[in-house]
Amino acid sequence: MAEFIVLGAGMVGVSSALALQQAGHDVVIVDRTEPGLETSFGNAGIIQTEAAEPYALPQDMATLLRYATGKSNDVTWDLAASLKMAPALWRYYRNSSGLRYQTISKVYAQLAARATADHQPLIEASQSEAMIKRDGLAMLYRDEASFREATQRAERMLSEYGVTSRIVDGLQYMAEEPALKQAPIGAVHWLQSWSCSDPGALTQAYAQLFVARGGHIARGDANSLQQSTLGWSVDTTDGRLSAAHVVVALGPWSPQLLKRFGYHIPMVYKRGYHGHYKPQQPLKRPFLDVANGVLAAPMTGGIRVTTGAALVDMAAPANTKQLKRGVEQLGNLLSLGARVRESQWYGTRPCMPDMLPLVGAAPKHQNMWFHFGHGHQGFTQGPTTALLLSELIAGQVSSLTTALSPARLV
Ligand SMILES: Cc1cc2nc3c(=O)[nH]c(=O)nc-3n(C[C@H](O)[C@H](O)[C@H](O)COP(=O)(O)OP(=O)(O)OC[C@H]3O[C@@H](n4cnc5c(N)ncnc54)[C@H](O)[C@@H]3O)c2cc1C
Repeated sequence: MAEFIVLGAGMVGVSSALALQQAGHDVVIVDRTEPGLETSFGNAGIIQTEAAEPYALPQDMATLLRYATGKSNDVTWDLAASLKMAPALWRYYRNSSGLRYQTISKVYAQLAARATADHQPLIEASQSEAMIKRDGLAMLYRDEASFREATQRAERMLSEYGVTSRIVDGLQYMAEEPALKQAPIGAVHWLQSWSCSDPGALTQAYAQLFVARGGHIARGDANSLQQSTLGWSVDTTDGRLSAAHVVVALGPWSPQLLKRFGYHIPMVYKRGYHGHYKPQQPLKRPFLDVANGVLAAPMTGGIRVTTGAALVDMAAPANTKQLKRGVEQLGNLLSLGARVRESQWYGTRPCMPDMLPLVGAAPKHQNMWFHFGHGHQGFTQGPTTALLLSELIAGQVSSLTTALSPARLV
């Protein structure tokens, strides 16, 4: 019998297992599929040190109207799903400004600041250096007003959080980035962020490291989870596995499992799509086309274009409108070749209304631990919040672990 069952083998689950293993625990990961095949597979692969502030809901009427009328490509929505998420969205909106947002950002910034340092030992030990680039992330602006605003924000991010960037004139940025066919108005080049050429493969490399260090990964359905006098057990293809503790790290599927245990988790589900395009010129570093809400990143499979958020039901069929519109508009900045033939990927950012992941003890069950809700930055934060969870389990409480505690749900 293991000490811990970790449910979920995305970046968050695999990092949890590694951190607990490092603390001397006997851990088994259970997933219904191979590690790193869901949200942690298809994301934009940025280890986002620049994300010291979480992604807030806009407060100004003009942007909200653009969202409401479908004129924006960075956020789209479905009426029935948005109504279902309305209470969580309302809380998210209220947390997105003023003192609440500042307080949340102070916590978030601490996670962003140490993200690369917490990935580094895992990158090294899993021999994944070839997948990592330490060349930052660019944000490209297509009009003077938004570039000016972004420049001011970059100055504030440096003074408040120490996040460094370079402000680059559009023509100069084009000279640096041969893949661009037209100059933007300007760019903010965030210098400390890293990027990964295959986020699914990095998650799998971390999972292999866990196995190489003596861990075990089993196939099974988390929905078979039961509490018993011994602790927790789950059905797997290796038989019924039991452990004293269970860590729920099922990303966007976590609320679904926890409903059976009496938890109603107010999650905002933000779906995103990607497509790969053959590069006509190699892309030097990833960039966000801010006006258009799509990110282009050089990956092993081609230039990966990822979309912003679609507020839809988890079970909704794929709708590639946002991706197609994004690629069309991106086409006047970047030379994109033909789309690589592949089945359409989409995944869901598991966002909490206060933008902070849930890390810590389940409020109503002994030896059940929550570790999910990383929203836009789970690929970045997985190793960091995993270490925090492991410290918490060892009895080390800090102001950071208190801020992330699931106790805030009750
Ligand atoms: C388009 C897009 C771009 C993004 N870009 C970035 C980025 O650049 N940087 C960044 O930091 N973050 C990014 N994110 C967010 C990031 O991908 C997520 O926050 C992160 O992957 C969440 O990881 P996770 O381990 O919690 O979830 P997942 O990776 O989804 O893992 C959950 C696991 O649970 C398993 N599972 C689910 N249900 C069951 C069940 N019943 N039984 C057994 N197993 C089950 C799944 O198979 C899966 O392996 C992006 C997200 C999207 C959608």
